[in-house]
Amino acid sequence: MTKPLVEVKNLRKVFPIKKGWFGKPVLLQAVDNVSFSIRKGETFSIVGESGCGKSTTGRLITRLLAPSEGEIWFDGQEIGKLDEARIRPLRRQMQMVFQDPYASLNPRMKIKDIIAEPLLIHEKMSAAEREKDVQRLLEVVGLSSFHGERYPHEFSGGQRQRVGIARALAVKPSLIVADEPVSALDVSIQSQVLNLLQDLQEEFGLTYLFISHDLSVVEHISDRIGVMYLGSMVELADKDAMYEKPLHPYTQALFSSVPVPDPRLKREKIVLKGDLPSPVNPPSGCRFHTRCPAAMDVCRTKAPVFQEQEPGHYVACHLYGESKG
Ligand code: SF4
Repeated sequence: MTKPLVEVKNLRKVFPIKKGWFGKPVLLQAVDNVSFSIRKGETFSIVGESGCGKSTTGRLITRLLAPSEGEIWFDGQEIGKLDEARIRPLRRQMQMVFQDPYASLNPRMKIKDIIAEPLLIHEKMSAAEREKDVQRLLEVVGLSSFHGERYPHEFSGGQRQRVGIARALAVKPSLIVADEPVSALDVSIQSQVLNLLQDLQEEFGLTYLFISHDLSVVEHISDRIGVMYLGSMVELADKDAMYEKPLHPYTQALFSSVPVPDPRLKREKIVLKGDLPSPVNPPSGCRFHTRCPAAMDVCRTKAPVFQEQEPGHYVACHLYGESKG
């Protein structure tokens, strides 16, 4: 099996959000006890509703945020507790591509300068070498050299995302964390950017952590998928197993709205009742029990263990195996 590039163990992140009674800070549990690994060269996707902790997990892995507890291993090194000075040289190896390319590109800078920025920070090279690299990167993402002289507002959404990808690639990272990278784009442009990401992965041996709420996009790009609900990872499996035989009642509901290619295989759409509970005060036991159509008494008091149910297929649910809580 390919070695993991990233491994997270019992990762937790809490944010103090405001003072409660008697001046006590109220804690928002954004990520709770999450463990998984990402193999070198694969695309691992995290899916879930907004507020499930998927973006926070991506920011923890790239250490834009510090974890409250747990370990983050990157290429054999534990980076969860490193201070900013020791993280900085590692940053070039893990780059992010964001949802809104416009917001992440400085409107006052020319495209060529935006792409050159990480080279200025991380690489010792002459101006001529940098210029050559920028031209190469524009070409790699399907733009022409004249695009380098333009400003972000002169570009379409798809072109701006190409610039975001070129900038991420500039320092030759091994991991790219792409947080909803095509959500702001038209469907026709989405597939162009996804195909570009796949081509670049093949060409440069990149590893992707892909974060999305869009299951058709995730189906297109993923090797394996993790499903998060209210800060916890509830299921993890290969893409095919996840789409064909989801085990967790939340995943079953989430994936029931995805159209199946074979019309003979009818899938009943499961509509979840109730709103997503607040991560400030998550339900006891299984966090999904307030909305789960299969909830049992034990689910209200005992948290299910995230465990391997079938080879490579993990689930946290009392319906399976022996959940010891
Ligand atoms: Fe539903 Fe219980 Fe499984 Fe949670 S542990 S998903 S409440 S059956």
